[in-house]
Amino acid sequence: MLNPRTHSNEYPNSYYAATSKYPMRYPSLTKSLDTQVCVIGGGFSGVNTALELAERGFKVVLLEAYRIGWGASGRNGGQLIQGVVHGIEPFAKALGEEGVKAIEDMGFESVNIVRERVKKYNIDCDLKMGYCDLAHKPRHVEDFKEHKAWLDKIGYPHETRLLEKDEMHEVVGSTTYIGGLIDMGSGHLHPLNLVCGEANAAHELGVQIFEQSKVTNIEYGKRNRITTEAGEVIADKLVICGNAHVAGLNKQLEGQVLPAGSYVIATEPLSEELCNKILPQDMAVCDQRIDLDYYRLSADKRLLFGGLCTYSGRDPKDIVAALRPNMDKVFPFLKDVAIDYAWGGMIGIGANRFPQVGRLKENVYFAQAYSGHGVNVTHMAGKVIAEAISGESNRIAWFEKISHIQFPGGRRFRSPLLAIGMLYHRLKDWLS
Ligand SMILES: Cc1cc2nc3c(=O)[nH]c(=O)nc-3n(C[C@H](O)[C@H](O)[C@H](O)COP(=O)(O)OP(=O)(O)OC[C@H]3O[C@@H](n4cnc5c(N)ncnc54)[C@H](O)[C@@H]3O)c2cc1C
Repeated sequence: MLNPRTHSNEYPNSYYAATSKYPMRYPSLTKSLDTQVCVIGGGFSGVNTALELAERGFKVVLLEAYRIGWGASGRNGGQLIQGVVHGIEPFAKALGEEGVKAIEDMGFESVNIVRERVKKYNIDCDLKMGYCDLAHKPRHVEDFKEHKAWLDKIGYPHETRLLEKDEMHEVVGSTTYIGGLIDMGSGHLHPLNLVCGEANAAHELGVQIFEQSKVTNIEYGKRNRITTEAGEVIADKLVICGNAHVAGLNKQLEGQVLPAGSYVIATEPLSEELCNKILPQDMAVCDQRIDLDYYRLSADKRLLFGGLCTYSGRDPKDIVAALRPNMDKVFPFLKDVAIDYAWGGMIGIGANRFPQVGRLKENVYFAQAYSGHGVNVTHMAGKVIAEAISGESNRIAWFEKISHIQFPGGRRFRSPLLAIGMLYHRLKDWLS
């Protein structure tokens, strides 16, 4: 059975939904519309594609099955971390030198898109720069050193700093970590307010947005016919951005992405003294394990603590009971603090973890599978798709150089398969 905490037609009872600044609702589609571009999916990918296209003068219809930001975009950890992919080496051969450089540049550009968008449309989403990677093991520290050396070499324009074990208290009040890497070019934000603010901007530029309008069928053709339960859209171009929820929309896209659950708990607001103890510089932080912890303070001083990846397709019965021990392990002195909200969402995972952005056909585009690192990359995906549709650039081709395999097995067998695969990676992670 679906857990009502994570699956209903409305937002889950999250800290984000409770502090939403953009409560507007959009109508459900009940008629036939003719448009240049139809975008399916009201997360960051779909909303930003629509917004980028509207900025270029296109007539766009956006269809969302539930609410804007209902999926991962309105539920995530809010960590805005530069980079398109964690470790580009495995893709260097397919991309070539120029491609590697293009993807690396887009990893930085993606954060700038978010920053500029927030400024241009005056989006109230608590954007704050400052981020730190956390090390549990010496090999993580080695990775940080390598990454910092590379950032220095290419002239990364933001402050970065390696932290030794005895300096970790400057960033995080826990004795768990043996090192860190500060990056002032990454940061954190309120994701539901960002995506809804962006949808608002797109709407004001003329994008027709429909919520509670699940696409039930697509007839591909010179003009695509996209059907919902009570209406249809005829569109020259189609962009599919269903991510982990793409099942039933397109077999190829569905076969390339596996949904995995990730969860977040939000404490009651904490005293200034406690905040200064936990995260004295108010940075977002993330450790490096497969089953990583990611956490940050909200604008109203709660600790938002995320983690607990599940690969079974089922949510934990009690998210607080499952996730709180991880938080207590990092910050034992928070054991008496109340948890006000707990929720989860679905991450779209691809086999090689490289974001999937490209064309299914000449007039059908897609973006999905950011493997837990999509707050920034979705913004880049929206931009390259809009550039391709408008003929402005073909940067999308860099993403298309990477091939993506279909996970074997039907819908029912993919989750157990992922569970077994992840067990292997967890063991490897634990032993190394
Ligand atoms: C708990 C959690 C924590 C995360 N933390 C971070 C983080 O801190 N930093 C980070 O970078 N990334 C994080 N991520 C990943 C990030 O949130 C995603 O990569 C990103 O939001 C993906 O955006 P999207 O628009 O592609 O997909 P989604 O936001 O999932 O949106 C897809 C939308 O498509 C709609 N849809 C699907 N099928 C249909 C249909 N048939 N008809 C109409 N609409 C349809 C869905 O309803 C959904 O709203 C996290 C994810 C989760 C779940």
